[in-house]
Amino acid sequence: MLIEIKDLRKKYIMGDIEVEALRGVNLNIQQNEFVSIMGPSGSGKSTLMNILGCLDNPSSGQYIFDSVDVSLLNDDELSEIRNQKIGFIFQTFNLLPKLSALQNVELPLIYAGYDKHERREIAREALDKMGLSSRADHKPNELSGGQRQRVAIARALATKPGIILADEPTGNLDSKTGNEIMALFRELNEEGNTIILITHEPEIAEYADRAIIIKDGLIISDKPTSGNTAEV
Ligand code: ADP
Ligand code: ADP
Repeated sequence: MLIEIKDLRKKYIMGDIEVEALRGVNLNIQQNEFVSIMGPSGSGKSTLMNILGCLDNPSSGQYIFDSVDVSLLNDDELSEIRNQKIGFIFQTFNLLPKLSALQNVELPLIYAGYDKHERREIAREALDKMGLSSRADHKPNELSGGQRQRVAIARALATKPGIILADEPTGNLDSKTGNEIMALFRELNEEGNTIILITHEPEIAEYADRAIIIKDGLIISDKPTSGNTAEV
């Protein structure tokens, strides 16, 4: 099992106000699954994503990622897992505006310790795979929304993380471009990547094989998407 979560809880405390964003989440995800997590605003999706991505710790409960009990790790060990094993994709692309597409894709490779020559080569290959060879020297503001998201996907894949966490990746795209990005995720899943997709759009969630619905900090539904008969 790639991800094993048991009775996960997360409380935010602001002064004397306490919000329990996750109230006992249980979730297993296997290698090579394509899972969507859906739910209304405020249901705990981002909180769960941050914990899944080792960006934040739960208040209680267990999170085992790739056989490692993440709750026992310190900040350095957590960032090592993030840099090596997890690719992040965001609604707002999060590209650095002053860097070219190529330089943006090279960033995680710098953190991962590749030398300059290897970085160039891997980043060029990743952009190539996204159909963006001819845009390598363009800055983000010279690219369309769909192209920016493909640069972000190239960046997320550069270190071959195996798992991709995508938080509303189509949220800033028109529906045609959004569907193209989802078709790309399907291909990446077929190539062996595990994909966890957060969305509030049911049509986008349908691209996954398994749909999880979260409400008020609890999973209220977890089943295969329609048209998909795979066992979960
Ligand atoms: P979603 O992503 O589904 O919109 P979130 O995980 O962002 O939900 O939020 C779940 C609940 O936790 C909400 O009530 C939200 O207000 C609260 N929350 C999220 N982040 C914080 C934070 N950093 N500090 C305090 N409360 C938070
Ligand atoms: P798409 O339909 O692929 O999302 P657009 O219609 O937004 O693309 O853009 C068409 C072309 O114009 C793209 O190839 C893109 O590189 C280019 N382009 C888009 N926005 C800008 C910009 N702000 N500056 C320069 N070129 C741009």
